[in-house]
Amino acid sequence: MHYVSTRGAATPLDFRAATLAGLASDGGLYVPEAWPTLSKREIAALAGLSYAETAVWVMTPFVGDALSQDELRTMCEAAYGRFSHAAVTPLKQLTHQHFLLELFHGPTLAFKDVALQFLGLLFERFLAGTDTHLTVIGATSGDTGSAAIDALAGRAGVDVFMLHPQGRVSDVQRRQMTTVLSPNVHNIAIEGDFDTAQALVKAMFNDRDFADRFTLSAVNSINWARLMAQVVYYFYAAVRLGAPERAVAFSVPTGNFGDVFAGYVAAQMGLPVARLIVATNVNDILHRALSTGDYSSAAVTPTAAPSMDIQVSSNFERLLFDLGARDGAALAAQMRGFETSRAMRLTDAHASGAAALFTSDAVDAADMAEAMRWACAETGELLDPHTAIGFAAARRAGLPADVPVVTLATAHPAKFRESVERATGLRPTLPNRVGDLFQREERYATLPATFDAVSGYIAERAVSAA
Ligand SMILES: *Cc1c(COP(=O)(O)O)cnc(C)c1O
Repeated sequence: MHYVSTRGAATPLDFRAATLAGLASDGGLYVPEAWPTLSKREIAALAGLSYAETAVWVMTPFVGDALSQDELRTMCEAAYGRFSHAAVTPLKQLTHQHFLLELFHGPTLAFKDVALQFLGLLFERFLAGTDTHLTVIGATSGDTGSAAIDALAGRAGVDVFMLHPQGRVSDVQRRQMTTVLSPNVHNIAIEGDFDTAQALVKAMFNDRDFADRFTLSAVNSINWARLMAQVVYYFYAAVRLGAPERAVAFSVPTGNFGDVFAGYVAAQMGLPVARLIVATNVNDILHRALSTGDYSSAAVTPTAAPSMDIQVSSNFERLLFDLGARDGAALAAQMRGFETSRAMRLTDAHASGAAALFTSDAVDAADMAEAMRWACAETGELLDPHTAIGFAAARRAGLPADVPVVTLATAHPAKFRESVERATGLRPTLPNRVGDLFQREERYATLPATFDAVSGYIAERAVSAA
């Protein structure tokens, strides 16, 4: 399997190279050259399999010959063995129609562990026996950072520099990053918002002088391998609800469009997906794009769901590429326009292609709190703010009563204790697996949001390319 850039100019790479590269050299994102498909019979055969085994079958066509199937199986068992629930991503029924897919049973309490625990092992495997030293640079609105740091701390051949927007992540999120004192982990608080931090990361990747001095890599959802690992739980959940005979809808709390794009990939692979509900908070660029065709970036409003406080959704580019007949040159021109004006119109092909599978909704603070209260009172479940936004959108999507609707529960409620307590009056307890988080020493640098400050800081500490 080869991977091509959404902007058409970078050389296609194999799975190993695409995993290590992250962003393509032309500024685009890697996608498989074609979508592999699973037949109805192959999907039906997933029904009784464990999560790790499901992962092997769903990921094999993407991995190609970069790993043997035994190696892939060993890695899936190791990655998913660290989850605290035997099902890894258990489904919980809330009402006749509504289900939660709990994706937060990993070490850092958010769904990003599902992909990053696996990605950490992939990096280690692909670097073993080479002289390459990877410099991972990422921006986080909270959960990617902690999951990436947990997955990469202490691993040989990798340094991780993680930028988070100062004061815009929860205490639990910050401490999960800053109390990891491994010498290969470098936390940076940026004096700016998440989009600013993400733009700094992109600028470093695109700066030839800087990028050529190090072997840069990404763990944000711009990394294809991360999305690939997320495709698995769409299959895992849907076969438990009757796929391939029955179509299932998913409601996905969305920020960078990574998680919901994995649902799109599952549908391209043959999984019967009735609908993908793109749930945003008031930072609603994706809702505006999908409902009116207007993809224009506004200022970010901080909310109780910080991992969705995003007004430029990197992975949307992957969807536009696929819906725009995979014309990389045309998309590159469109994205250059967007990068200058911060606004663009979807083409007719984009809009009609998206409408066939996606609906969208923007959920404000009051409706989010109401969803938390309703779930707590009617079903006894505490939902974190992100999940509550997905659930609010799921309930008002108006899907036929015979279509099961699965809301992706993307974070443990204890990761956002203040918001949950404010809405429901109940304070979720931190699971034992996070231990003495609030007693541990923190370490991080605080830097102004300028290219020179951040690239200079990293250049002083990163290992030069051989
Ligand atoms: C990252 C994150 C999201 C958004 O996921 P994307 O892949 O960026 O769309 C939603 N909820 C939580 C809890 C997250 O950590």
